[in-house]
Amino acid sequence: MLKVIIIPLFIAALSLLVLPYTNYSPGFAVVGCHLTKIGPYAPKDVVYPPGCQNGALPSADRVALLAQIKIFVDQGKIVFAKENDKLGMTNGSGVVKRGDGVDITIDTQVMRSFVTLANKGFTFTVSSMIGSHSKNVSGSGNVSRHWDGHAFDISVINGQDIDTGGAAAKPVTMDFMKYLNSLTGSDLEPKQIICSGNGRVDPEVLALQKGVSSVVAGHENHVHVGY
Ligand SMILES: [Zn+2]
Repeated sequence: MLKVIIIPLFIAALSLLVLPYTNYSPGFAVVGCHLTKIGPYAPKDVVYPPGCQNGALPSADRVALLAQIKIFVDQGKIVFAKENDKLGMTNGSGVVKRGDGVDITIDTQVMRSFVTLANKGFTFTVSSMIGSHSKNVSGSGNVSRHWDGHAFDISVINGQDIDTGGAAAKPVTMDFMKYLNSLTGSDLEPKQIICSGNGRVDPEVLALQKGVSSVVAGHENHVHVGY
């Protein structure tokens, strides 16, 4: 009689331990809403439980973030226009060689931001992270957030070129900036969201900026996100 009770209980307990991992490749599992490394292999695909994509933000586990970013790159959801950026985000290092030869460890917040934006359904081109970005913000003596790996520029969102897309690109540009603004108060709140419009200065787009109060020269063709 005891066996009749204990054996099914044992199987039930075992399945509780194993089930959360069965949908994923060896090495990674989604625990809660986070991709977590549990072994040495990269996942082939990641499926988050229902509700996660609208809820929890990605964890700060750099190995898991890099694995997830590589999946998005392979799927064409994230495109890195600059070869050094792409290499650092897909070779598992999270380190990008800067123009002056210095290896820069990319801010974990930048990587979390990529993952949450892609989870949210945005496909996008990162025109520059470290890339070939200059040290200073154009026209000023201030060191750019790009220089040490704390910022990225987005030039295309959901197939719409921010610069040449004009009116057609405006809705998705605004959706993208609104989502970034919605992170206010979370632990993934950007310090800077900068874009003046789609190829021209647009007050409605300007109103969604963060960290600056007016037009920043050269930002009609991309959205700059800084941490
Ligand atoms: Zn920028």
